[in-house]
Amino acid sequence: TRDVLPKVINLYEGIRNGDRHSLAKAITLVESTRRDHKFQSEQLLSTILNKAPVSTRSRSHHSTLRIGLSGPPGVGKSTFLETFGMYILSQRHRVAVLAVDPSSSRSGGSILGDKTRMPQLSNQDNAYVRPSPSRGTLGTYSDMNKLSRLFDNIIDLFVILYGLGGVARNTNEAITLCEAAGYDVCLVETVGVGQSETMVAEMVDMFVLMVPPAGGDEIQGLKKGIVEISDLVIINKSDGAFQGAAMQAMTEYTSALKYLQPNTPAWKPRVIRVSAKNNVGIKETWDIIQEYYKVMRESGQFEKRRGEQRKSWMWTQIKNELMDRLKSDSAIRTMVEELEEKVFQGEMASGAAADYVVDRFTNKYRQ
Ligand code: GDP
Repeated sequence: TRDVLPKVINLYEGIRNGDRHSLAKAITLVESTRRDHKFQSEQLLSTILNKAPVSTRSRSHHSTLRIGLSGPPGVGKSTFLETFGMYILSQRHRVAVLAVDPSSSRSGGSILGDKTRMPQLSNQDNAYVRPSPSRGTLGTYSDMNKLSRLFDNIIDLFVILYGLGGVARNTNEAITLCEAAGYDVCLVETVGVGQSETMVAEMVDMFVLMVPPAGGDEIQGLKKGIVEISDLVIINKSDGAFQGAAMQAMTEYTSALKYLQPNTPAWKPRVIRVSAKNNVGIKETWDIIQEYYKVMRESGQFEKRRGEQRKSWMWTQIKNELMDRLKSDSAIRTMVEELEEKVFQGEMASGAAADYVVDRFTNKYRQ
């Protein structure tokens, strides 16, 4: 076992003592792609895992709630998180809000990262609101996007491995850090843009989809895949003039969900109407979430899902690490440029080029 760096121990102790500054610093650390930061962040995460007494390790995992919330911009996610977060605090929980924002570096600023979005919740002692990561993992996304017309398949893979994968990578670790700091409810928010929901769904126990009070064509337009992974659909803005539309949406989502394969055999997805603005349906939402956890725990699905998630996370990290190493290998980089050209010109099959790169790369480690 390697010696843990003193600064990592300090950070760990700060987190355990509930020091927000340490928690924020630690999350920044796990977001960093610098080699020395990666080393420190691995030490920190291992310390957290090892310091939990064996007898309580699974029990403490048991008592944390990881809930994903997704929905289109403007549907009311931050309004809901503010109201809902305050309610959870009143139930004597400690709440962390994390945001996965796939558009942050494309727009130059983050649409989720604005701290003032949840002013009341942010000011509570028992709440921690983390703005979304604004660093450059997704920088690759827009650059890659330009190239994507040329290398569609390769780029798709890169976007998954570098772009969204990068953001999701530190979000998963940020959850662990928040839990170590004693926040037993983690709410992970994401804007509904393609891949991010699926990634968030793989990091949480329960996936909640928030939709506007509209049915008909709009429900058709919603990607079926997203509804499919939802354990709960919240129809927000069920107030005033929207009430009729909310009722109709309720009927439509309820019947739509009936025909979809449920996420887990133990739970039938639910639909609820809420007014985040008027504080209506908040307690009911929390009740459904508690019911979900009860069912999932009693059926053994909860532990199973977390275990599966840890396993698939390991593979994501293997892929990330391999791609990082491959990308930082200068010999490979030069070689890849030539290969890309050949593949582009149709002189070489893409599969053969891929094999060649991987063979060359792995041979390096064969001695
Ligand atoms: P987000 O982009 O999903 O985070 O959405 P926001 O929480 O920023 O809300 C977008 C707009 O919808 C704001 O003007 C809110 O005041 C409004 N809004 C949010 N929740 C409700 C609600 O329950 N009822 C009504 N009528 N408006 C709401």
